[in-house]
Amino acid sequence: MSTFVQIAVNVPSLAGVFDYSLPESLAGRVREGQLVVVPFGKQTVQGVILRFIDQPSIPQTKEINELVDPEPVLTSVQIAFAESLAKSTLSPLAAILALFLPSGLSRQADILFAIRESGFDPRSTTPDLTSLASRLVKLLRERGPLRSRQIDRAIAHLEWRRTAQALVKRGVLTSQSVLPPAGVRSKFIRTAQLAVSPETAEALMPEIGSTQATRTRRQKALRFLIEHPDAINVSWVYAESGCNLTDLQDLGERELLTLRETEIWRDPLEKIKDWESEKRDLVLTNEQQNAWQKLESGFDEMAAGKPFLLHGVTGSGKTELYLRAAQEAIRRGRQAIILVPEISLTPQTVRRFLARFPGQVGLIHSKLSEGERYDTWRRARSGLLKIIIGPRSALFTPLPNPGLIVLDECHDASYYNSEPPFYNAVSAAQTYAQICGGVCILGSATPSIVQRHQAEVGESIHLELTQRLSSDPLTESAEGLDLPPVHIVDLREELKAGNRGIFSRELSEALGNTLKRGEQAILFLNRRGTATYVFCRDCGYVVKCPRCDAPLTYHFSTGEKLLCHRCGYERQMPKKCPECGNTNIRAYGLGSEKVEAETQTLFPKARTLRWDWETTRQKDAHEIILSHFVSGRADVLVGTQMLAKGLDLPRVTLVGIVLADVGLNLPDPFAAERVFQVLTQVAGRAGRSSRGGLVVLQTFTPEHYAIQAAALHDVNGFYKEELTQRKRLGYPPYSQLVRLEYRHYDPAKAEKEARALAVKLQGRLKADGRNLTTLIGPAPCFFNKLDGRFRWQIVLRGANLEPLVGGRLAPDWRVETEPVSLL
Ligand code: ADP
Ligand code: ZN
Repeated sequence: MSTFVQIAVNVPSLAGVFDYSLPESLAGRVREGQLVVVPFGKQTVQGVILRFIDQPSIPQTKEINELVDPEPVLTSVQIAFAESLAKSTLSPLAAILALFLPSGLSRQADILFAIRESGFDPRSTTPDLTSLASRLVKLLRERGPLRSRQIDRAIAHLEWRRTAQALVKRGVLTSQSVLPPAGVRSKFIRTAQLAVSPETAEALMPEIGSTQATRTRRQKALRFLIEHPDAINVSWVYAESGCNLTDLQDLGERELLTLRETEIWRDPLEKIKDWESEKRDLVLTNEQQNAWQKLESGFDEMAAGKPFLLHGVTGSGKTELYLRAAQEAIRRGRQAIILVPEISLTPQTVRRFLARFPGQVGLIHSKLSEGERYDTWRRARSGLLKIIIGPRSALFTPLPNPGLIVLDECHDASYYNSEPPFYNAVSAAQTYAQICGGVCILGSATPSIVQRHQAEVGESIHLELTQRLSSDPLTESAEGLDLPPVHIVDLREELKAGNRGIFSRELSEALGNTLKRGEQAILFLNRRGTATYVFCRDCGYVVKCPRCDAPLTYHFSTGEKLLCHRCGYERQMPKKCPECGNTNIRAYGLGSEKVEAETQTLFPKARTLRWDWETTRQKDAHEIILSHFVSGRADVLVGTQMLAKGLDLPRVTLVGIVLADVGLNLPDPFAAERVFQVLTQVAGRAGRSSRGGLVVLQTFTPEHYAIQAAALHDVNGFYKEELTQRKRLGYPPYSQLVRLEYRHYDPAKAEKEARALAVKLQGRLKADGRNLTTLIGPAPCFFNKLDGRFRWQIVLRGANLEPLVGGRLAPDWRVETEPVSLL
């Protein structure tokens, strides 16, 4: 074995691979994929051993300091996958490698610092300590050994690391690399529930605190609990009343309420034991059997290695095939990765895997503590777990020999990592499956344009399931029911009739009837609906850029200007509609708050619940809001994108799509597809029971193909038309896009950087004779400010774009090689 290794060091700004030598002391213990600590310049950093090499590329190599863990953290197949992913996403290798490590491990050299226990007093022997050094020593003496992260928190904003290293050199401190805790802790939420009758609570209210302010807070909390007799998450009580845990504990001591800890993630196995056995040996239907034959042959070594697109409506038996495929992988001594959009929203799928493969399934979900995550990761690495289920990040779990990767609901937006390192888990999974010689199944009722096209041109194998199966007690009620009818309401007609409200006459009537019958309604608003564009309320004309034909957006902060976010074109807000000449031209934006308020005005008795970005920032809010709605504690759910996820809400008989076309007019080639996907999914939420259902879709552009197709549930029609459009405009799948974004607090700086890079890229395009590659921009992004920073972008369009950009950009550029939006 050679004594040199290539190591990817974890220095975010540097992204480098360097050669090191092995010290005598580690002889025989070093393996590929291990996490190590190495000297780097004056620092000590973590790195991953990529491979052994015969000859280092530099004459003088440094030695590895130590191993963080005796077991490799990445398999050699994972190393190949990581390198390939870094290349295709143009991301630093270190950033990609970090995806593979459990969160505690991936941190840069997590080191435990402590005062050296040699009985020597740093104060007396080191009178020359800097003030920062004294502070460190004092901190460690007071609090005992601390991890870097803890010191970061205690000494905010100061570069203490170098000082700490100096103190280690001088023998004042010790330092040692550490692993995250391995202990598995369960996760609990705290709930509160009234413990006395409402009358008793009311009667005692005057005495529950010494100051007026305290009493008011606590009274509010009690009143809230009176209104909500079930045990309720204390966060809700805090939010409603402004009280805190001390208040609730005090009320608990007065025996007015009960505080409890409730485990959130109970063992899902418990509930399902009864139907586990009966479902084991289903006879596949003919359609399933046909699909299965092809899937099964995919496991053979001679297989072509193409991914499968399993295209089938909900309830057509896709999951059953995933289960078989997993069984087959296990039979062959391999493991499976099952990716789902979000575990808390796909409990049925998860349960079926747990039932079919008891004791062999590891779940990765957002509620795992760091310890639990690490534990699952280790059990997977050791081969104890045969199946890993989780969101996109589960793709990076270290399985010894993965033979199957499934992406359920493969069209879902959550498969895209929209922060650096940007990656698309659907493409990444295909790459990984190819590298490890495994089967990759993409399953969906509504595959994306690109996914369908991939199947059409033979890059993936199309398997279709067209029939709904009836044996599932949970979907039985929906069986045989057609998708709900969709009524399109032309909002221009409403305006002509003098109705300027948010709700058309048809929608408010339908809402009224639904409430009268005691049924539930969903009012859906596209999240992007908060963006403001300008259109004529009489004729529907949308003000567009003369150069890009993209809708201009309204910017109030810059003095009523309209701006093109592709090319930077600017104009004044028009006084009259350029099309019909009327003055009814307005900026239009609409939020879910407004919809909720309007609902309450029209139907004061309706109990409304809002489910959007704002109300779900709080932890567990999703589950709470959902369970509230499902259990009938609200009549109307007003919400954004989350509503589109595959939820089963049997009591919902009306879906109101408040404004279908807002997202449609965004200057983004993916806008139509996004709107179509979300509309079809939201429309599918109505009428899931025998009571039937209705969808009212309000729009200003009823003639748009995305709206028409969504109203008819016409997936194929939309696909054809959208492909035609993409081809005409030269967008994916007919081209590749690379999006380059620059953010800065100073708008001038952001603009300057973007312009400079654009000039450079133009030059390179010329020099390389790339006539077919276009550069779009530079221009401010559509959402031109984020977290106080101004965003500018450049979009490259063509083919084989990686070499143009790869390794040539300053690290503060955000690079996306497979963007899902150009906003
Ligand atoms: P999907 O994943 O496409 O939504 P599922 O795999 O969940 O579909 O199948 C829907 C229902 O039909 C489930 O209850 C499942 O157990 C049942 N099912 C699937 N395949 C068969 C089969 N071959 N025979 C009988 N029932 C089946
Ligand atoms: Zn323009």
